[in-house]
Amino acid sequence: MKIAIIGAGMAGLACAEALSAAGHRVQVLDKGRGPGGRMSTRRTTTEAGEVSFDHGAQFFTVRDPAFAARTQAWVADGVAAPWPDAGPEALVGVPGMNAPIRAMAQALDVTWQARVDEVVREGAGWHLSGEGFEALSADILVVATPSEQAAILLATVAPDMAAKAAAVISDPCWTVMAAFAEPLGLSDDVLREAGPLSWVARNSAKPGRDGPEAFVLQASPDWSRTHLEDAADAVANALLAHLQAANGGALPPVLSLQAHRWRYARTPATGGPPLWSQADQIGACGDWLGGARIEAAWRSGHDLAAAILAAR
Ligand SMILES: Cc1cc2nc3c(=O)[nH]c(=O)nc-3n(C[C@H](O)[C@H](O)[C@H](O)COP(=O)(O)OP(=O)(O)OC[C@H]3O[C@@H](n4cnc5c(N)ncnc54)[C@H](O)[C@@H]3O)c2cc1C
Repeated sequence: MKIAIIGAGMAGLACAEALSAAGHRVQVLDKGRGPGGRMSTRRTTTEAGEVSFDHGAQFFTVRDPAFAARTQAWVADGVAAPWPDAGPEALVGVPGMNAPIRAMAQALDVTWQARVDEVVREGAGWHLSGEGFEALSADILVVATPSEQAAILLATVAPDMAAKAAAVISDPCWTVMAAFAEPLGLSDDVLREAGPLSWVARNSAKPGRDGPEAFVLQASPDWSRTHLEDAADAVANALLAHLQAANGGALPPVLSLQAHRWRYARTPATGGPPLWSQADQIGACGDWLGGARIEAAWRSGHDLAAAILAAR
């Protein structure tokens, strides 16, 4: 079977890995410039050298035995490692959070900068068109995007699934990436709940990171929602002031300062199964179904592949 998957985040790639392993032809399309999805890593050049920031997911934990096996392979391949500062069971991608995604994608047929705008029925299968790729046909379609984007893609072709997706409203998250010429005074590499900052991490302290002192600051959902349409510069400076307060009133010279707005960051989903229609040969997976964690996204994609394979 030829299977098209929209979205090369953890859910889409977990689904693609399992379907490819079963011998199906899987083509994955993602609108992003490169591997990451919400496990993205951004690199910036500063006068003190290159610096990287994990501006999406910060770390992941493992409970599920199947995900544990997949994680062990990443650790053995050097693309993930423990980061005890975030907790005794925390792991991060190495050298960036996007490393496991990059490794998965390299073994699959993934097209980046390919935005799917329309999905229509074509006989018993599907036809996908959009920007950055040749329109293509597939026997089976999987939508592995955040709920808000899934609701749009599924609206006309799978209204029941679209309605489920539309009911899941993600929290936004303003994230600030700051690099400094000297180390900050903060003794901890991780702070939680510091004023409007729900998370502060010394990104440069994660395993395998080089370069100058780097911090990632994430605003709480409430603060992010209140300031959703603010200019990125204003947000960067506002959140930096809270880091300054946490640091005892002063900061070293700033080498680079950027803010990124995740309009759809964390989902309220608590663990529903992926969606699959045997009659229409269409399915949906992602953290908005499985739960707001990397592991849940992986499980959702993996379970959807199992449902597709069971139906063959
Ligand atoms: C700021 C932030 C902090 C987080 N912190 C943590 C954490 O510490 N630990 C943790 O476990 N989880 C964390 N998460 C959640 C975690 O990142 C997600 O649960 C997980 O990465 C979701 O994977 P996914 O595959 O479902 O979605 P995504 O990673 O969002 O992948 C979906 C993909 O679909 C693509 N796409 C969307 N629309 C289209 C289209 N029309 N055409 C083509 N491609 C499209 C996107 O480009 C994207 O790559 C965090 C998330 C954010 C944003």
